[in-house]
Amino acid sequence: MSPRRVRIVGGGLTGVLAALQAHRLGCREIDLHERFDDLGGVARSRQAHGLELREGCLYFGPRGDPMRGLLESHGVVFEDFENRFGSVSPAPGGELAITHDFGGPALATRDLTLSPMAGDTLTDRLRAYPAEIGQALTRYCQWHLGTWLDEVHESAAIPLAINRVFPVGPDIAQIATRKRADRLHDELYAIPRQLWGRLDNLTAALPRGGFGAFFTQCRRELERLGVRIHDTSLVSPRQALAERQPGEALVWAANPMPLFKTLDMEAPKLIKKSFATYAFKVRYGGPLPFYVQNFTAQGAVFRIYLYESRGQAVLLAECVREASDADLRRELHRLMSGFGGASLSIGEQVAANVGPRWIYQSTDAMKKLVALRADFARTLGDAFVPGAWEPYSKAEKFAQVNVGLAAAFDAADAPAAVSAA
Ligand SMILES: Cc1cc2nc3c(=O)[nH]c(=O)nc-3n(C[C@H](O)[C@H](O)[C@H](O)COP(=O)(O)OP(=O)(O)OC[C@H]3O[C@@H](n4cnc5c(N)ncnc54)[C@H](O)[C@@H]3O)c2cc1C
Repeated sequence: MSPRRVRIVGGGLTGVLAALQAHRLGCREIDLHERFDDLGGVARSRQAHGLELREGCLYFGPRGDPMRGLLESHGVVFEDFENRFGSVSPAPGGELAITHDFGGPALATRDLTLSPMAGDTLTDRLRAYPAEIGQALTRYCQWHLGTWLDEVHESAAIPLAINRVFPVGPDIAQIATRKRADRLHDELYAIPRQLWGRLDNLTAALPRGGFGAFFTQCRRELERLGVRIHDTSLVSPRQALAERQPGEALVWAANPMPLFKTLDMEAPKLIKKSFATYAFKVRYGGPLPFYVQNFTAQGAVFRIYLYESRGQAVLLAECVREASDADLRRELHRLMSGFGGASLSIGEQVAANVGPRWIYQSTDAMKKLVALRADFARTLGDAFVPGAWEPYSKAEKFAQVNVGLAAAFDAADAPAAVSAA
């Protein structure tokens, strides 16, 4: 038996996947509410001059990725590509340290010794490293986020792309030995894949035709399955809870902030930071897609993403602040100098956008989201499925929501376990 009805609030990737999963688990009364007139959330396709703007290098895994498997079973077609990337890190004398096939920072150190992490802030994480690495990372994080790092949760290391550091100087064999022997060394240090033959992220995939075609296909498939999609339907938590019917599971795959007020809880302090994004038509002789992360803490650009849209090579520059066109072009050429930059010709700017991103969790938000989740579990039991608010990665979100849905479906088999608020 399954819940008679599953109501999903939020039509981003998490909400779309939750609807497919609820259907797979046997539910045939599914409502999906999205506040805007388009599915997709942060992954929604945005267009400029007929080209797709892709912020954030959102990829899927190779065949075998569970999220991809579910989508493929519903007709979504993926195209595999060779996953290529690199990074630029600070080097003595203001030089650039170019690293191929590694998207994290490569930082010089004499010593590999790590201290245990004393707490859960980003500062605690950076302090675990030897001093010269910790200092370079602190400069980078302050430049990127412009905030006190002791208010940021250490999990922000993932969207900051510093979840692993390549320690430059020590012997590769020595780093590998430490990584194999100790969990903390394995978590905090990396070796670029070509240097030690670990080839697990060689292939990645994008939906054929881009994210616009992807969400069109998802919508078509959801409608074919009988999922009722409610566009421009901004659902308030009070409304969602008041309208709950017996045997209904509610999946909150949307911004959790309004939920705090519903439970008379204090909303958390968030990390507020605006970023600027610029898109250019380009010509480039290297492989596409390709991205480069900048850890020098200089200039404006923190990531360059090169990809193809409708046969046109596009360069998307993600920046910690706004920048003039001339400065931007100079900086892009400098950062690309170690990655076939001589073949890069930057043409017309086709888009510029400034806006906040909510992907860096504060320690306060992490603490309060745990309390919020616990309160909902106490009042609604498994009939409330929190939308995996804390993790950044879409794969982790997918896995967490699936666990929540599975529990809701088990609970529906044992109705006494589901207590209404
Ligand atoms: C710039 C950027 C880059 C990223 N890059 C990656 C990446 O490379 N890899 C990765 O794994 N993850 C990445 N992420 C993380 C990303 O958040 C997830 O991968 C995933 O796309 C999030 O989907 P979601 O559905 O959980 O949230 P969202 O995409 O935020 O969707 C939430 C949806 O809920 C709707 N909504 C909100 N409130 C309401 C309401 N009250 N009623 C109805 N609808 C509502 C919103 O309009 C939105 O459509 C990135 C995020 C950003 C911002």
